[in-house]
Order: sequence, then C-alpha cells, then structure tokens
Amino acid sequence: MNDCLFCQIAQGTIPADKVHEDDSTVAFRDITPQAPCHILVIPRRHIRSVATITPDDYPLWCHMLEVTQRLAVYEDLVGDDAGYRVVTNSGVASGQSVDHLHLHILGGRTMTWPPG
Ligand code: AMP
Repeated sequence: MNDCLFCQIAQGTIPADKVHEDDSTVAFRDITPQAPCHILVIPRRHIRSVATITPDDYPLWCHMLEVTQRLAVYEDLVGDDAGYRVVTNSGVASGQSVDHLHLHILGGRTMTWPPG
C-alpha cells in the first residue's frame, strides 16, 4: 500500500534502522523504544493485523516467528538471558497505531504484567 508507513520502510523509501531483511520480512528498531531492545518484525506484504491473516498467510506468520526467535535468541539482540516479550497489537483499543502487521520484540528490562 503506497500510503502505509511500514510498506514504505519495507520498500526502502522511508529509512529505518534495519536489523534483518529477507524475501518476505523486514525487522528494524522501533523509533520510540519502550525497552532497551525494541525491534519490530513485519511482513513485506501488506497485512493489516493478526486479525486479518488467513490460512494462506500461515507460512509467512510462522516465518515472522522464526525471524523473531533468530533475532532475540540466536543473534542475541535482546542482550542477555533476562528474557523478552513478543507482542502484536490488533485494533485501536489494543494500541495498534500502524495498520500493518508487526511483532514487537521487547527486552533488556524487567517487564510487568498485565500490560497497560
Ligand atoms: P503499534 O502501536 O503496536 O501499532 O506499534 C507501532 C510501532 O511503530 C510503535 O511502537 C512506534 O513507535 C513504531 N514506529 C512508528 N513509526 C516508526 C518508524 N518510522 N520507524 C520505526 N518505528 C516506528
């Protein structure tokens, strides 16, 4: 989608601090980090949210989770063994502000529960 911020980041027309790119996904550091490590994993293809994925999207969704694990665990971007949180917001009430599916990887500090 031409007017979608994350589509434009995926296409490279808007800059981002990217930590991963492949044929179907991109990951980059959040511009307003809520933790010492705050990375967003997105599909290149525009999908509005987790609420709108279809069975055809399941391989891509699994790949997003694989990329998340690779970055957080195997590439150790979270920074230590303290753990990390993976979040996806869906809809305005959840706090979703960008209507392009994304996984937040948050780490590097102690988390509280429930989230606000
Ligand atoms: P959400 O509120 O779950 O939709 O998450 C959207 C996230 O995108 C927020 O954490 C924003 O800080 C982040 N964000 C917005 N614009 C940019 C940008 N240009 N580059 C990186 N992250 C961004």
